[in-house]
Amino acid sequence: MRMLDLLLKKRSGLEMTAAELEFISMGAADGSIPDYQLSSWLMAAFLNGLTPAETAGLTRAMALSGKKLDLSSIKGMKVDKHSTGGVGDGVSIALAPVAAACGVVVPMMSGRGLGHTGGTLDKLEAMKGFKVRLEPEYIVKQLKATGLSMFGQTERLAPSDKKLYALRDASCTVEALPLIVASILSKKYAEDITGLVMDVKYGSGAFLKDFKKSRELAVALMKTAKLLDIRCVAVMTAMNEPLGLAVGNGIETSQCIKILAGEKGPADFMRVLEVLAGWMIHLGGKARTAAEGEDKARAAIADGSALEKYRLMVKWQGADVRVVDDPDRHMPKSKLSKRILAKKAGFLTAMEARTVGFASVALGGGRAKAEDAVDFGAGFILAKKPGDRVAPGDLVATAYASSPAKLADGVKMFESSLAYGPKAPRKEPLIREIIK
Ligand code: URA
Repeated sequence: MRMLDLLLKKRSGLEMTAAELEFISMGAADGSIPDYQLSSWLMAAFLNGLTPAETAGLTRAMALSGKKLDLSSIKGMKVDKHSTGGVGDGVSIALAPVAAACGVVVPMMSGRGLGHTGGTLDKLEAMKGFKVRLEPEYIVKQLKATGLSMFGQTERLAPSDKKLYALRDASCTVEALPLIVASILSKKYAEDITGLVMDVKYGSGAFLKDFKKSRELAVALMKTAKLLDIRCVAVMTAMNEPLGLAVGNGIETSQCIKILAGEKGPADFMRVLEVLAGWMIHLGGKARTAAEGEDKARAAIADGSALEKYRLMVKWQGADVRVVDDPDRHMPKSKLSKRILAKKAGFLTAMEARTVGFASVALGGGRAKAEDAVDFGAGFILAKKPGDRVAPGDLVATAYASSPAKLADGVKMFESSLAYGPKAPRKEPLIREIIK
């Protein structure tokens, strides 16, 4: 096969075969196809699109460019969750142990913070010693013993995605829906799961802000997942303001541990957690309906079994379990703090999510470059949310950082995310649609 012929084929808008897509994916992974030809192909795919069969073929080919996890020796349905990314969206940390406590096998592969959005791996690593780089054999052993493992993508898992993603970034082809779908699902397919719950965000802090565009992505993900025999559901959730009351790695993990320990969580966070858990438990074959799954999820929190699953995972993955019993004492919190107070009377009408995400990065809680270190204790604890009544001087949030300059930058940016008005704002529905 010659890459030149495949370029010509895609440029002419013809449908590519599975073998041709495998050739491209393998060539991206092993370096045998030069970057300029891969980039040209990506642009041709961007302009001419990919058919559903091509998208599934590319996804499979990308997953097979490395070594797939082999979970065939583990009984039961294996269900993961993927979020398109948000601010304050530490839901996975609580969700995975809840679903596992209800009997679902949960191999959860997560990523790092990107731009203004947080990443589950950073939140997990906020627990000192917690390992997310696990060997496939260890993941299988942990899943067999406990039903739960949370880990990062290894070098061997879907390596052509890494190459193609970097080239998409450098060739203005990131936004092509079929390429986004193949990128997300190749990593999930390589994980050998049977079910996937997608949290597809829309709104100012989402990867795709516009609901229609986000919905298109959700539908495309669903179609491709079906062709790959992965049972999938997409929950469309709003991301115009941070979810919950915590923004920042350690701060969000603490919020989750406390929820698992039975503390009352923020209403929006709990709703998203319960709905996603309901679907994971249903797709995992442990509830007849998602609503029954939600009941089981609530019960697993109330009876402490979800917290026990979490404790087990913390032990298996190398962190000190005291963090589970006393997060306030054992989770990192940056040493400097500043109270951010309301400046006006009336209602808080906005706390713009993207700006809050970048404010958290400015505090030290995220990365400007991939190699930057993260301050796990940096971030915000929110005291008010849009829709709350405020008077001048009321506490809106407390910011945490490790240097005065970072604290000042983050606070200034956070303040610019806020708006006040005489009436409570009309909010987008938190869960706008569930696509099955
Ligand atoms: N997340 C991914 O993994 N890939 C994309 O292309 C976009 C979001």
